[in-house]
Amino acid sequence: MANIKVMDSHLANMIAAGEVIERPSSVIKELVENSIDAGAKHIEVRVYEAGRKKIVVKDDGCGMDREDSTLAFKRHASSKLLSERQLFRIKTMGFRGEALPSIASVSKVTMTTSTGVGVGTKVVIENEEMSVEDYSSRKGTIFTIEELFYNTPVRLKFLKTDVTENANSLEVMQRLAMSRCDVAFDFYIDERHVFSTSGRGDLLEVISRIYNNETAKKMMKVSYEDLDFSIEGYIGKPELAKSNRYYMITILNERNVYIPKVQRAIIDAYGDFIFNSKYPFVVLKIRVEHSLVDVNVHPSKREIRLSNEDRITDAINVMIKDTLLDRKPLTAGPSYIKEEPLKAPISPKIEEKISFLLDDEEVLSDVSITRPSIAYKNEVKPVQVELPSLDEEVITPIKEEVKIEENKNVSFKKPLLIPIGQIHNTYIICQGEDGMYLIDQHAANERINYEKFDKELNSSIKVVEPLVPYMINLSTSDVMKLTEERLNLLSKIGLEVELFGSNTLKVRKMPLFIKELDEGSYIEELLNQVILKDKVDLSSLRKHVISTMACKASIKAHDKLSLREMEDLINTLFECNNPTCCPHGRPTIIHFSKYDIEKMFKRSGI
Ligand code: ADP
Ligand code: MG
Repeated sequence: MANIKVMDSHLANMIAAGEVIERPSSVIKELVENSIDAGAKHIEVRVYEAGRKKIVVKDDGCGMDREDSTLAFKRHASSKLLSERQLFRIKTMGFRGEALPSIASVSKVTMTTSTGVGVGTKVVIENEEMSVEDYSSRKGTIFTIEELFYNTPVRLKFLKTDVTENANSLEVMQRLAMSRCDVAFDFYIDERHVFSTSGRGDLLEVISRIYNNETAKKMMKVSYEDLDFSIEGYIGKPELAKSNRYYMITILNERNVYIPKVQRAIIDAYGDFIFNSKYPFVVLKIRVEHSLVDVNVHPSKREIRLSNEDRITDAINVMIKDTLLDRKPLTAGPSYIKEEPLKAPISPKIEEKISFLLDDEEVLSDVSITRPSIAYKNEVKPVQVELPSLDEEVITPIKEEVKIEENKNVSFKKPLLIPIGQIHNTYIICQGEDGMYLIDQHAANERINYEKFDKELNSSIKVVEPLVPYMINLSTSDVMKLTEERLNLLSKIGLEVELFGSNTLKVRKMPLFIKELDEGSYIEELLNQVILKDKVDLSSLRKHVISTMACKASIKAHDKLSLREMEDLINTLFECNNPTCCPHGRPTIIHFSKYDIEKMFKRSGI
């Protein structure tokens, strides 16, 4: 007797739902994408009790006629893909015809829809039963999803707290809004208005509305065009750096996708503009000829395959580097205020409105997406908040020496600066040909030292044997973590240690530069770096070493300097490859042009 049976369609749909409908935010994604495909210009989304109770998606798209409104819930029923040929030139968000039957198999669905011609239709699907009746003829579609996962208790159990689920939904909505700036979005959580966008097609305006105005002001415009692709978007100034990688947003042909190589290119381009474990804030829109993209790789279409990936990746890398290095070296002061005007400033209420999302401990910096200005102040240790679709990039342990990239070709013209004096023993005031310059002495010194140590570490590292034997006691578990590979990594930065007894390490050689620091505590810190982290690589270890040394060896704020010392500091600063910011991305110099000063004093003739 045959054992194989063909599944009934309900079971097949539930299995498919397992792939595409993981949590409330996946319902939102699928329904909003359908609205977009239906040509909607305005989409409103409301979630209640984190989507557990109800999700409503309302659009003003083309709607469906009576026949389509029931067909839509059949598996593999789609109006978007008709031939195999089209599969390789997908222009719509959907094409698999899986979302509606999947959603309907795990919830109660009410859909009202109309093409605007004749009477509309209301379809209710509950417990596999479908009922159809006449409804109003308002053009567009409204989906109401209730009791999500009522029949899949395990999935329900795996939902996180309301705060986390809401944060996921918010993230999905933010990304959809950025992907389609030409569509107006309204998003509500439990009747609170979270954000709205105007649909005017301006990405910077959308960024200001979904994050805030301050963030938008710190974004720099980038663009690039080639024969078969183009890129445009905004990249955040280094001070916007985040403690997680979720802010590197790439939108390919209006679809938010994750392209690991592009992510690496972005991180690499920021190089030492950003400190250690921070990640840049970038929103890039890439347009590629549709036939060069394979969207049919991942059920929720989050990953794609690109034919010309390497060229795109290189272009992004160079474009970002150039923009960061071109960044007017000596800006700020009053000129910050003159930055690109925003068409529609965000209402200050929005942040307040969404602040409820963040009352819960669970949503810490990983989901601080919603309140950037607060997030900077309280850099709270990130807690694992599962943002399901965002795969962590796997950092493989060292393969080869990775250099910290610095663009050596770009040199900044040093303005003629005459130090006048110091204020608060912290900032050096200089007179230049065009106005006044304020230099943060600690930041400047950090930059100088950073580049000095970087050079030292890039060439051969001078090592010395400690004069007196240097021993470090470790716990057994820490000793076990010091694999040969990790010890090798340490030796590449000049620290050679060997096991001496079962729990003691003996330092055989250490880098000469360590002499300039508090050597004992620094060696321990280095060991911790390789012991405590699950994955370590040479490039991040080097970056850590260099920045810590730069910071520790630098003159402090509050050190009194003579005019001669100030002059030396300024001269050395301008010998750096990147004199404009410290390794943490903070500015080293602020320029008040003569024009700015005269304007502040409201002097005539300007
Ligand atoms: P897909 O989007 O992959 O085609 P779905 O299951 O998501 O599959 O949707 C099935 C079909 O239902 C779509 O192809 C479309 O014709 C129709 N549909 C779904 N949502 C809407 C909507 N909001 N407005 C108009 N038509 C819709
Ligand atoms: Mg769809």
